[in-house]
Amino acid sequence: MESGTGKILKIKGIALISGGLDSILAVKVMQEQGVEVEGVAFETPFFGSDRAVESSSAIGLPLTVVDITEEHLVMLRAPRYGYGSNMNPCIDCHILMLKKAGEMMAARRADCILTGEVLGQRPMSQGKQSLHVVAKRSGYQPYIIRPLSARLLPETMPEMEGKVDRSRLLDIQGRGRKRQMEMADGYRITGYATPAGGCLLTDPGFSNRLRDLFAHDKNMQVRDLELLRVGRHLRLNDETKIIVGRKQRENSIIRELSEDCDIVISMRDLSGPTVLVPYGCGSDDLIRAAGICALYSHAPDDLKAIVEWRTGGGATHHVEILPAEGEGVRQMII
Ligand code: SF4
Repeated sequence: MESGTGKILKIKGIALISGGLDSILAVKVMQEQGVEVEGVAFETPFFGSDRAVESSSAIGLPLTVVDITEEHLVMLRAPRYGYGSNMNPCIDCHILMLKKAGEMMAARRADCILTGEVLGQRPMSQGKQSLHVVAKRSGYQPYIIRPLSARLLPETMPEMEGKVDRSRLLDIQGRGRKRQMEMADGYRITGYATPAGGCLLTDPGFSNRLRDLFAHDKNMQVRDLELLRVGRHLRLNDETKIIVGRKQRENSIIRELSEDCDIVISMRDLSGPTVLVPYGCGSDDLIRAAGICALYSHAPDDLKAIVEWRTGGGATHHVEILPAEGEGVRQMII
């Protein structure tokens, strides 16, 4: 864009890239008026950056991926603005992402932060009030431009300063996707991901397991969060939870994620699940876990089978045991 003195202003924006179509369109709208755009995507054990990497590479956008697990977890335990219908603290999550993008803007000496948010598209996080709150609480409100809805929102600093041409920003609002689809056609963007996909915190089953983890494990590690994605989780009592692999792939992941402090249980002579007891347990719980392992194996219900387990030191033990009773076990599933 040209300044009042005829000098060409080089404007740079940091764009939050989710991988969905809207964030890519927001980039395109800004690039069209000469803004240099760099993307940033965030990852935690709850959502990854694969879609962002893919869609950025499809349009040749340079992208930085930042792991925000630590800060996200602190926020997730007590989000100021609460959770959505599951364990998704979307408003606080957006605040955190905008804050991180703001720090990146400052570090890169960029002029603005761009997001693909569309006014009114999602009731909880994209109403006018929510957009205002997340911007304000991020600490970077004057610099946050939502190119797809900007003309319906207050003017930002780069617009006031003439660095960004407001008349070339858009006025999209609501849940409809028609204009975005037309724009995608115009920019020849294909194969984009659906909006709001891919965050485990919006999944009811995952959210139950996370609530249980928060309630029982004050010192949880990142690997405990990774384990929430795999297998059946059964709570035996306040101290002990077990994780039962449901298929070969899950058994392998459970083994990969196991640590020396855990107990790993499996069938000695039959095929069956890998069962993990994170951080170990006493002998009574171990016997119950062995019975559950037998229940989900190919062992006949009325015959004893041999179940073995390995502790951190690598020592292997076994027990001959009847499979646990199914109904009681199902009630333990988290
Ligand atoms: S859906 Fe997940 S990633 Fe998206 S804002 Fe909500 S909590 Fe954050």
